Amino acid sequence: MQLTLARLNEQPEIFYSIQGEGKSLGVPSVFVRTSLCNLHCIWCDTDYTWNWKNTRFPHANDATPGYRKFEKKDWIVKIDIEAVADLVADQPCKNIILTGGEPLLQQPALAALMRALRARATGYFFETETNGTMVPSAEFDADIDQYNVSPKLENSNNSRKLREKPAAYHFFAQSSKANFKFVVAEPQDLDEVLELIERYQIPADKVYLMPEASTAPVLQQKRQWVVDICKNHGFRYSDRLHVQIWGGKKGV
Ligand code: SF4
Repeated sequence: MQLTLARLNEQPEIFYSIQGEGKSLGVPSVFVRTSLCNLHCIWCDTDYTWNWKNTRFPHANDATPGYRKFEKKDWIVKIDIEAVADLVADQPCKNIILTGGEPLLQQPALAALMRALRARATGYFFETETNGTMVPSAEFDADIDQYNVSPKLENSNNSRKLREKPAAYHFFAQSSKANFKFVVAEPQDLDEVLELIERYQIPADKVYLMPEASTAPVLQQKRQWVVDICKNHGFRYSDRLHVQIWGGKKGV
């Protein structure tokens, strides 16, 4: 069985860093970045996992001089599970974050990876990032320790039909392993967040709000009103450490 991973600097994108967002913010972690996504968020900062040449999806960077869609074959790598397990096992920590792209597009292979690593050593903790559009399989759910669910809003430019999948939202709202991270671009995004929370009965203490920002000045600008909303509604605030420390740099 193989995984399709993002390729960066000619290598599968697996790296040791700290979790920069959400519930585990600040935790030293190893990131395994899967390629491919079923959504196309206009502000996505990992667009090299889906914004392929000859596709029609718009991106906020389209007007940036020099920005080009990605040649798929140059940005993905297919790699055997045991080879991925070798690369992950060599890393200095056992908090593993499956990220993407959309990792849940590859549940059987990721479940196999988690089992392969646990067969080698104890102490692994696996988190997955997800856009919350796919219901996890029983097999995947048994292996994963934490879901970091980031439902997309209107500001992502995905149609509601694509981004809001009731069965998946109900699953995550009821899972004790799940937390929800909403990316808010403007104060009016709150209305949509509150609607989703009401519709799917998501407990407030599982909700994190995070400003949409790809640069430190924009992040700073949005912090105050996002924090105020969190205080008013009992949500948690998530910063974006990676933007603060590294800006838009990839693979860090
Ligand atoms: S769901 Fe995540 S990876 Fe996919 S396009 Fe949106 S931000 Fe990017």
